Amino acid sequence: MSTTATTPEILILGAAIEGGKAADVRVVDGTIAEIGPDAAASATSDAHRIEADGLVLLPGLVDLHTHLREPGREDAETIESGSQAAAVGGFTAVLAMANTTPVADTAEIVERVHDIGRRVGLVDVQPVGAVSKGLAGEELAELGLMHRSRARVKVFSDDGRCVADSRLMRRALEYVRAFGGVVSQHAQDPGLAGTSACCHEGEVSGRLGLPGWPSVAEESIIARDVHLAQHTSSRVHVAHVTTAGGVDVVRWAKARGISVTAEVTPHHLMLTTDLLAEYDPVYKVNPPLRPDEDVTALREALADGTIDAVATDHAPHAAQDKDHAFADAAFGVLGLETALPVVSTTMVASGAMTWADVSAAMSARPARIAGLDSHGQGIAGGAPANLTLIDPTRKVIVDRSTSKSLSRNNPWHGRELVGAVTTTMLRGRLTAVDGAIVEALA
Ligand SMILES: [Zn+2]
Repeated sequence: MSTTATTPEILILGAAIEGGKAADVRVVDGTIAEIGPDAAASATSDAHRIEADGLVLLPGLVDLHTHLREPGREDAETIESGSQAAAVGGFTAVLAMANTTPVADTAEIVERVHDIGRRVGLVDVQPVGAVSKGLAGEELAELGLMHRSRARVKVFSDDGRCVADSRLMRRALEYVRAFGGVVSQHAQDPGLAGTSACCHEGEVSGRLGLPGWPSVAEESIIARDVHLAQHTSSRVHVAHVTTAGGVDVVRWAKARGISVTAEVTPHHLMLTTDLLAEYDPVYKVNPPLRPDEDVTALREALADGTIDAVATDHAPHAAQDKDHAFADAAFGVLGLETALPVVSTTMVASGAMTWADVSAAMSARPARIAGLDSHGQGIAGGAPANLTLIDPTRKVIVDRSTSKSLSRNNPWHGRELVGAVTTTMLRGRLTAVDGAIVEALA
């Protein structure tokens, strides 16, 4: 699979632009050429026409938090299979987390991930660089070399692990400031939970006899990090915030003008710790599912903009790592193919957000946080034609066997969601239509 030098002219007819007024959109040479009543008239007769009556047109979705597992665990996911899942899910860019084997802590590894992503050509795969060598939390990785490499890394994260050492976190923030980078923190104080925690510490964990993480393990790190961001005049991003208290700290910091952004996952917007009652490891995630009141706080914070972005934390696992007793199973769930439907169901169908809000939270803001200039520009003449069409009323019962991911750890299996991605386009090239990958023209 590879991208072609030129792409055919495409005419999208009658889609509601970001959920607002319906209009025709003409795409030429990978760029939005025209929007409005004259678009159809100026199209050539062999333009590819997409009837989009009743559909919503959004800018291509951008995921700040994807685990693609390559290099090292190609049995769970590859850059190609993850790119396919992303395209089917409406994404045109994903940030690939650094906790691979070997760890993405050198220019060589991030360039390798970047180049494979470009060769697959379905989404822009933007590597995240590790903060510390080997994710060991002791010594800074070669942040500058990764930034100056072909991969142009701007986001650094030890995700999966917290940068717990305050001095190292301070130095990372100082370092990335020089080139406008950001540290994405998995906020979870390991000292408050130990190594055996596997769920939220609370009533449910007590009843099930499972060791848990207290909410304060997240809240205390977010509080420390926003103070460090202020002190260093740098920028911190909170990966997958999950607690009402964590949201409060982010809100407080933003009100003081501190450069902090935050993301929430689809699963933390919908699933709660009560699902652990039968010890099903598909619901084992890190950070853990939380009680109802946290879910309510996360939804409110996403709706009012305190939480900037939705990010999937797509975390594929091979069956041999996930199908275990709860305490021994790997952490993580699939997310790329269901993110938009979950947000549509929880936030749009409920009236908490408009499609324009979704556009901001899943395209414009994540692109800005990651410094991806060719994404998240909205739907405007001259912008790159990174586009996603959505059927806002289509109901789908999720079937894990149809996933493009190589893994099957899908917590949405069997659930009905409303809202489906129908078409995805990267720089004017159709990448996915109705759940199927569109092969590049030769
Ligand atoms: Zn994480």
